[in-house]
Amino acid sequence: YDLSYHDVRQVMKDSVTLLEAQAILQNITIEADFGRDILWVYGVENQIKQVFINVIKNAMEAMTDGGAIRVRLGRENDSVRVRISDEGPGIAKDQLAKMGQPFYTTKEKGTGLGLMVSYKIVDNHEGKIDVSSQLGQGTTFEIRFPFRYPDVPKDA
Ligand code: ADP
Ligand code: MG
Repeated sequence: YDLSYHDVRQVMKDSVTLLEAQAILQNITIEADFGRDILWVYGVENQIKQVFINVIKNAMEAMTDGGAIRVRLGRENDSVRVRISDEGPGIAKDQLAKMGQPFYTTKEKGTGLGLMVSYKIVDNHEGKIDVSSQLGQGTTFEIRFPFRYPDVPKDA
C-alpha cells in the first residue's frame, strides 16, 4: 500500500468533502481551520482518512439536534495536532475509559468498532488520540501524529 508523506490538511479536506452532504441534511455545519503550514505525516493515506471519517461521523451521530463540528489542524513542535470538537451531549467520565474498546457502543445499530480501528491506526502511525468531554457541552477528540518532513521531494 501507499506508505508515504502526506499533507494531513489535504487528507482532512477530502474527509470533510465526503461527509459534507450528509452533514447538511442533519443541520450540521463543519467549520474547518486547516492552518497555513504544511502538516507532513508519514503513513497510509486511506487509513488516516478512515480515522478522520470515523471521528467526524461519530460527532455527527452524537449531534441529533444539529450544530457545529469544529475541525482545527496545526503543528505543535514535533507533532501534527488535529482537533475535532462537537456540540453533542458529551460522554460521561466512566464511559470515557471505554473509548476504543472493541464492541463498546451505545447505538442501537452501532458496531463499536470505529474507534477501536481508529486507535489502532493512529497507534500504527506512532500517534495518539485523547478524548475530553463535558456532559451537556460536547466532546473533543485530539489526534496527534509525528510531524515528519519528507526526506526527498515528492516528485524527485
Ligand atoms: P459506534 O459508532 O458503532 O457506536 P464507535 O467505536 O465509533 O462505535 O464509538 C463507540 C461509542 O463511543 C459510541 O457508541 C458512542 O457511545 C461513543 N462516542 C464516540 N464518539 C462520540 C461523540 N463524539 N460524542 C458522544 N459519544 C461518542
Ligand atoms: Mg462510530
